[in-house]
Order: sequence, then structure tokens, then C-alpha cells
Amino acid sequence: MIRVALAGNPNCGKTTLFNALTGATAHVGNWPGVTVDKREGVCKKGSEPFTVVDLPGIYSLSPYTPEEVISRNFILDNRPDAVIDIVDSTNLERNLYLTTQLMEMDVPVVVALNMADELEKNGDKIDVKLLEERLGMPVVSVSAVTGKGIKELIEKTVAAAKKKRQGVSVLGSTMIAPAIEEAALHLRDDGVSSPLFHAVKLAEGDSLESDNHKKTSAFVRNYMHGMKDATFGDDWEAFVANARYDYITANYSPALTRKSGEGKRLKLSEKIDRVLTNKWAGIPLFVAILFVIFHLTFSENLLFLAPALGAGGEWTMFAGTPFEGLFGSSAGISSPGVILQKFVEGITGSISGGIGAGMESAGAAAWANGFVVDGVLGGLFAVIGFLPQILLLFMFFSLLEDSGYMARVAFILDRIFRRLGLSGRALMPMIMGFGCSVPAMINTRTLADEKERVATVRVIPFFSCGAKLPILVGCAGALVSVSGMGNADVITMLMYLLGICVALATVILMRGTTMRGELSPFIMELPNYRRPGFKSTMLHVWDKAKHFIKKAFTVILASTIIIWFFSHFTWDWHYVPDEDMGESILASLGMLIQPLFTPLGFGSQLAAGGWVFAVAAITGLVAKENVIATFGTLAATISATFDAGLAGEDGVEAISALMGATDISGAGLIAFIAFNMLTIPCFAAVATARGELTKKRFRWTMLFWLATSYITSSMVYTMGAFPWTIAIWAVAWAAAITALVFVNKYLKKKDEEKKIKAA
Ligand code: GDP
Ligand code: MG
Repeated sequence: MIRVALAGNPNCGKTTLFNALTGATAHVGNWPGVTVDKREGVCKKGSEPFTVVDLPGIYSLSPYTPEEVISRNFILDNRPDAVIDIVDSTNLERNLYLTTQLMEMDVPVVVALNMADELEKNGDKIDVKLLEERLGMPVVSVSAVTGKGIKELIEKTVAAAKKKRQGVSVLGSTMIAPAIEEAALHLRDDGVSSPLFHAVKLAEGDSLESDNHKKTSAFVRNYMHGMKDATFGDDWEAFVANARYDYITANYSPALTRKSGEGKRLKLSEKIDRVLTNKWAGIPLFVAILFVIFHLTFSENLLFLAPALGAGGEWTMFAGTPFEGLFGSSAGISSPGVILQKFVEGITGSISGGIGAGMESAGAAAWANGFVVDGVLGGLFAVIGFLPQILLLFMFFSLLEDSGYMARVAFILDRIFRRLGLSGRALMPMIMGFGCSVPAMINTRTLADEKERVATVRVIPFFSCGAKLPILVGCAGALVSVSGMGNADVITMLMYLLGICVALATVILMRGTTMRGELSPFIMELPNYRRPGFKSTMLHVWDKAKHFIKKAFTVILASTIIIWFFSHFTWDWHYVPDEDMGESILASLGMLIQPLFTPLGFGSQLAAGGWVFAVAAITGLVAKENVIATFGTLAATISATFDAGLAGEDGVEAISALMGATDISGAGLIAFIAFNMLTIPCFAAVATARGELTKKRFRWTMLFWLATSYITSSMVYTMGAFPWTIAIWAVAWAAAITALVFVNKYLKKKDEEKKIKAA
């Protein structure tokens, strides 16, 4: 089958086009650096099917970054039958820079002028015929979003793939052209493919290339010896880059006609950026936007209207039904997220109620009823109840990403990051961590410095992912309902911020000690603001939902069944009823490890039944949703045993019931959230980290996660439960920071000594 590679600058729409060609649903984001690995699919929309490979975005083919290496090597070594060069037509000249390099390879290239819709909206025009003539390659105007021109692109690609094309260079009239021509002849004689491309690289003095073609490289050096350019001297790399841009301006730019008064629209987005990326206002604005999102998703007291509504604010229309309090209660109006959550819980509540009643009237044994209703459904529904809020939060994040705002956030945070020893590139994987650690860890491959990459992989799990959300929301909701403390949305957001702070603190620590390294320069352009597409937003949300539901009915369902069995059987394999659950296998195991968590506030100090917290923390190592599923499975029995008087219908109620039964303190519960958020992540993330790191570093990473979660969590608990310990922690931290400063100074000195010795 014909194989076609997609190449282009970051954020030019490669993945969108890939999805349009293959019908795939790969992640599209409005910022550079989303695709880091190549991805394959099949396009069946033309006269003949062909394989399509989505490559990482690159600005040039001089491999400095891992993405450039992947993309360049794929085209050179795997020799696709054709390359579709995707050009962001709203940024024509800059994108054609890569085109002038692709041109030099012996591979058919089809230029796709993407974002035709946006170009048109701007009122600009590109003369496709003229550009085609000048480039000497097929050019098609397309819009990957609307689908315009895709058919034509497919047909032109199939046709081009069947022909051969020999590389041509735009450097033909420059002073180094003879050297390039001669070198290309040499390389051709040696049987090297794409000789012209390599010859140009040799003339530029590309170090990778000169090592691979030593003989020709020596020849080129010799040939060019003594040559000097008036402006660039013998910096041939700069000379070549400049020559390419000159050629583009002279020969290709005439194809573009800009609407007069073009500056106007630009100015609007610049005006917006002046506010959003402002040195002082940028971060407070980001926090404010986050707060609005969390408020709309988690608040039970929308716009804090409760006091204004007074006693009249009770909604009684659903009293006595499973949907009681759907739109709010005397405590305030429900936010959209809470309405959706209560709605889903109304449904799951009626389902488990109906099944329980049905089983009872059919004469099922009490244990069977307990197994199905409290055990399996209790665990499963406790998790599913959070799905609406997870999806809503993701929809908001997806909107921020697609509009181009997240890239601005990366830009503002870059200033802070540099001081911490991280390049701005490390931000993308971190922000992706809010979704799921697995792709985020893979995305760290864009980091040039290996030690920076290790440090980043280690802190990614601290950016609380979607699976941890039920823990945060469930515990926050229970805290609010039991102790009447604060607002659930505020607590949830503060926990997110805690994760971010711990990540930043540990990154500073690592970059100052064990993971010292160079900082590579970071150039990020801000992508255009775009109106987020409805389809792509829904795709993101749907992807998340699919993933979540699949997990619920596999890993989580299996875990709840196992947990129920171990909590209802003794070591000699006897069934124990609810009231004797303390004799079960799970209880004895839980009690065994429980003391470990005493310094964290959810260990031995809890009343009987407190072992559930220890067990939940362990089951969370498989999948973080299991923490809530464990509570859901065990809450009904525990609270029945201790007569806490609360049923465990949904996640929040299950935790409320457990709080009542075990007497866990508010500080202990917050420490519990912190521990689960910061400790060893789920199985999938651990496996990914193992794949991305060396064995030795991976072991240290596991230890790092355990230590960070343990220390942070015990700090949260002791400071909350015994405020006088704040003094001790303050002293300990002051000592640690002082020690760190000295260690850092010492290491810096040693580094310098090494450098001097080397020189
Ligand atoms: P990649 O980084 O090259 O893979 O680019 P993506 O496919 O992730 O797209 C980057 C951004 O450009 C996303 O916000 C897309 O929705 C948007 N985009 C892609 N193609 C088009 C297009 O033809 N028209 C418009 N208006 N936007 C597009
Ligand atoms: Mg992409």
C-alpha cells in the first residue's frame, strides 16, 4: 500500500488533517507539541487506500529536538511514497521555510495550504496556481476542519506517490551552490539516497551529517575553505537559513495578497494578549478563570446566593423523589455540574433501589443482596456518580486549550519556570497531566535535557488527573456536609493548587541537587486565537467518557467484587455477615498496615473500621477511582455496623458515613486526599514511567513518590490537627532550605572546577 507522511510546523493542523483523512480521533490541541510520536492510520476516502503517518511538528529539518529527529529520520529512512507538507496558510512565509528543505529530498511532496477557511475569513488570498508553478510541486488549498479540498488533496497525493521526484534546492544561485552540487554528485556515487539534501546539510556544517559522511564532508570543507560571505562570514548555517528566506520572499510571497488594513484584526488579538499575558495580571486572571470553572462544576451554592435567598431558597419540587434537591436546597443553588451529578445519582439510586427491592421480594439471601447492592453497585455507582463533573471539567479544559488560552498560560508561567530550572517546554506535559499522566509522561520526550525530563516525569502525577478527581470531590463534599466547613468547590481547587505547589517545590529541589542540567532555549510562538470547534470539543469529552466507562466496567468492577469478597470472608474461608466484617481477610490486612498511616491522620487513631482508609489507599494503586469504589463498597456495611445512621448511596454519602463511623478528623481526611494525590500513581502511569526512565531512575522515582506523599500528607495532618506543630515544621523546612542552598552552591562550584579542568 502507498505510504504517505504528514509533515509541517507545530500547530499547523497535521493531526486535524490526519483525523480527517483516516477517520481517527487523535488528540488535537491548539498549542505546539501535542503530537510527539508518529501515529499511523489508513485513508480509504480516495480511489486507492493509503497509509498515513502523522509526524511531530517541526520548524526545520536540522535535528536539534527529539521531534525533529523523529520526523527527519522517518522521511529519510522509512522512505514514504509521498509527503504531504502541511502549511498554515495564515502564516505562509514562515511555514514555507520547511517546504524549501523538504524540496531537497528525493520524495514526491504535495503542499497542502491548510486553514483555508481562516485565510478567507481574514480576507487574504493565495494564488494556488502561481505557487504551484514556482514550487514545482502540486499545491492544494484545504481546510482540515471544514473538509474543503480534502478530496482533491487525496487524489493529488495518490497521483504524486506513483511518480518519482528528484530533489531541487532553492540555494541554486548562491555562492555555495557549486560546493553543494559537487558534494551531491559524490554522495550519489556512494549510493546515498536524497544526496542533494545531505549535501546541503554538509555545506551547513551539520555535525550529525558530517559524522555520517566523513569523506564528502572533508571534501566540502576543503572546497569551501577560505570562502566568506559579506554578512555571515563562514557561519554557513545562518547563511543558508537567510538564503532560504530571501528566496521565499522573492519567489513565493507574490502568491499571497493581503487584504489592506490587515493590521486591524491582529490588533484585537494583540490587545487581548496584552491583558491575558500581562506580567502582573496574567496569573491572577488564570486563577480567577480556574475558580469560575471549578465553581460552575462543583459548587452547591452557585454565585454564593444562599444568604440572599434565605429560607425561601428551598427547592421542594422533587421532595421525596430520587431527584430531591436537584436544583438546590436551603444551602444554595446547584451549579450545572452538581445538577448533572445529582441527576445521575438519582438514576443510579433508583436502579440499585429497584434491584435491591426486586431481590428481596424474590427471596434472595441477605448476603446476595448485600453483594449486589452494597458491594458491586455501591462501588461502581459511587464512581460513576462523578462522571458528569469530570466530563464538564474536561469540556472547560478543552475549551481553554482549543481557544489558544492554555498556550498563553504556558507563556506566562515560562517566566517563573526558568527561575526554577525548567524550560517552558516542560509545561505542556505538566498541563496534560491534569488529564492523564500516561500521555503526559510520553510528551516529556520533547524535552532536550534528559535530567529535566526525569524531573518532569516525576512530578507529572502531582498534577491531579481525572481519575483522582472523585477522591478530591468526594472527600471535599463529605467534609462540607459533615463538618459544615467551607465550600466544596474551594476545597477541590485548593487541593489542585496543593498538587501544583508540591510539584514546583520538588522540581526546584531536584534541579538544584540530583537532576542538575542545562536549560535549553525555549521559543514558543503564541498560536492564533480560535473559536473552539463544537465537534472537536465533543470528541475530547467523548474520549474521556469512553475511557472512564471502560475502566468502570473492567478494572473497577473487578476490584469491587474482589474487595467485597475479601471483606466478607475469613482466612479459613467462612462467610462473615456485615456486623462481623472486622474478622474478614481484608480487615485483618487493613489493620496490619493501618499503623503506617497513623502519622497521616488516617491510621490507628481511628475508631474500629478505620482500616478502610488504609485499604482504599492501597486499592488506589491499581486505579485511582478504586479509592472511591472501595468506600462505596464498604461504607454501607461499616455504617450499618456502627449505626452511623447514614446510607452509602453515592460517593459523598459513603465518605460522610465513613467519617461518622471512624471519627476521622477533617485534617486527617485532607491528609488522606493529599496522600492519594501525591503517592505512587495508578498502574498504567507507573508502567509508563518505567518505560520512559532507566531502571535505576525508575526505582528512585517510586521512592520519591512515596516519600513526597508521606511527608506532605503528615505535614497537612499534624499542622491541621495540632497547630503547635507548625513551629516544628517551619524550623525543619528552614533548615532543609538552608542546607539546599549550601549544597547547591557546593555543586555549582564543583561544576565550574570540572569545566576549568576540561578546558
Ligand atoms: P498539529 O499540531 O499540527 O497536529 O495541529 P492540530 O491538528 O492539533 O491543530 C492545531 C489547531 O488548529 C487546532 O486548534 C485545530 O482545531 C486548528 N485547525 C486545524 N486545521 C484547521 C483548519 O483547516 N481551519 C481552522 N480554522 N483551524 C484549524
Ligand atoms: Mg498534532
